[in-house]
Amino acid sequence: MRISTLSNKTSHNATYDVVVVGAGFAGLYALHSLRQRGLSVHGFEAGTGVGGTWFWNTYPGARCDVDSADYSYSFDDDLQQEWVWTERFPTQPEILRYLEHVADRFSLRDDIAFDTRVTSAQFDETAGLWIIATDDGNTATARWMIMATGALSAARIPQMDGQEAFGGEVHHTAHWPAGGVDFTDKRVGVIGTGSSGVQAIPIIAEQADHLTVFQRTPGFVIPARNRPLSPGELDDIKAQYPSRRALQRESHGGWILPPPAGMALEASPEVRDKEYESRWAAGGIAFQTTFGDLMFDAAANETAAEFVRSKIRETVSDPITAEALCPKGYPLGTKRLCIGSDYYETFNRDNVTLVDVRATPIERLDRGGIETAAELHELDMIVYATGFDALTGSLDGIDIRGRNNLALRDAWAAGPRTYLGVAVAGFPNMFIVTGPGSPSVLSNVVVSIEQHVEWVVDYIDHMRRTGAHVAEATSTAQDEWASHVTGIAAESLYMQADSWYLGANIPGKPRIFLPYLGGVGNYRILCTQIADDDYRGFTTSI
Ligand code: FAD
Ligand code: NAP
Repeated sequence: MRISTLSNKTSHNATYDVVVVGAGFAGLYALHSLRQRGLSVHGFEAGTGVGGTWFWNTYPGARCDVDSADYSYSFDDDLQQEWVWTERFPTQPEILRYLEHVADRFSLRDDIAFDTRVTSAQFDETAGLWIIATDDGNTATARWMIMATGALSAARIPQMDGQEAFGGEVHHTAHWPAGGVDFTDKRVGVIGTGSSGVQAIPIIAEQADHLTVFQRTPGFVIPARNRPLSPGELDDIKAQYPSRRALQRESHGGWILPPPAGMALEASPEVRDKEYESRWAAGGIAFQTTFGDLMFDAAANETAAEFVRSKIRETVSDPITAEALCPKGYPLGTKRLCIGSDYYETFNRDNVTLVDVRATPIERLDRGGIETAAELHELDMIVYATGFDALTGSLDGIDIRGRNNLALRDAWAAGPRTYLGVAVAGFPNMFIVTGPGSPSVLSNVVVSIEQHVEWVVDYIDHMRRTGAHVAEATSTAQDEWASHVTGIAAESLYMQADSWYLGANIPGKPRIFLPYLGGVGNYRILCTQIADDDYRGFTTSI
């Protein structure tokens, strides 16, 4: 059903200074910042509301795994002082309410066409303008185009034989029906055990008649230890916001974690176990930084991996199931660490079955369920928790044409190349928020979004003030940046896993490490230096 937000839908056959694609954390902040600078700006959003990730991913258990007070905008002190977070890790509904509040507070909806997908964008070299077409047959024209289309917004369902024959309900975690899903008395199959699956599985298990989990690669699942924020706790955080936000911006990941307890290989086994126990008890992503060498030394990493395996064996009663749940063959953290609640405990329930699809691959789906090499699993519903075409998928979904009619898809056929993750040679005046080659998904993404948006808006403002109409990254700057991104990744263990960071989850996608591992603090300094150096690496023309 089309909703009232569409009242401004016809108003976009027009010319703007800037078009912003996407209305998640990035798009909303870009719209607000550009308007503050007096630019005319219009947003397009494929969804019927604001929120992006938090609009689409309404599956049971969806929540963020960065502390609530840190996974929020810092640009407006009144906003951060007034908003009340209730839990350590906020639920999807709470984050969506927050983003809806932000949209209302800054009257952002007025400038967004909802339920409108951008299908193509063509750079007119003569006029120096982008011509942006949408799925309702309209076009808008803009000097600058900001792609706030999300690093994790192009959901993906893998191809399997017989998929269309399945007679039951089918859902993807990132396209969950607005009214929710009733699992009562249903035999449910979940395919996928990444972060989304890990969050949904325990809750589906509580409600379904039977849950069958189809696991290809077991993840390392660290307990969340989520809890309500205690009285006064949020007030204390708010009182320290100036220094806390500064720390986030300067940090490696945009989150505030306890410092590593030295190097794993220099610590005795007793000290190591004590440190792992302490981080396991505290819960959350900080487990990955228990020691400074975990992501760079395979032997160090193995000590952490083995600790997690020992916890799995301790928790899961059936030894065969426990062993199947133990991640092996890739270092901890090189696929995104999963943060869960009662995940391993769920496999002790009588109504839950784990199917290891590496041992017995899925052969086909048929009307009644999923058939593996070993047996037919009869199901009433299939939930795909199979992830995303990360970082490039949402951009590939738009036919973007730069200079000489070059398609971005073709320019990136051998893998994405960007300057700073924000600009692409041959695609003038197009800026990407948290694009490939930026810290993006390796960080508290809200911190990265604020940094990118502020940098891009400053650049646009600078161009206006200096009378420059067209700015473009040079191929040389782009090549140097791409080598730098790849070089840092090569020094880490990240290259050793078939992860979506490397595009390995998408058949045929070039294997390139997509995000920038240098850290948000260092990256921010670099971006500022480049701006101070008259936007080194860009050429501009009048
Ligand atoms: P998005 O929120 O993805 O918004 C992009 C928007 O662009 C979408 O609404 C989409 O509909 C729209 N769009 C895309 N293409 C088009 C088009 N062609 N036309 C019109 N509109 C289009 N990050 C963290 O830092 N911590 C977390 O704990 C965390 N948890 C996550 C949990 C889940 C389930 C997922 C999927 C991601 C999570 N992330 C987390 C990453 C999360 O995506 C970012 O934190 C953040 O929300 C991204 O905001 P964004 O505005 O950049 O993109
Ligand atoms: P994901 O991490 O890519 O996980 C997808 C899962 O589906 C993997 O287990 C994958 O197995 C499996 N899969 C894919 N194709 C399959 C096939 N053909 N047969 C069997 N299994 C298949 O996706 P996600 O769980 O949606 O998470 C994506 C990212 O979103 C996360 O890494 C994180 O950044 C973010 N996120 C965060 C949270 C949070 O807690 N804050 C929650 C959800 C999402 P393989 O590993 O073998 O490919």
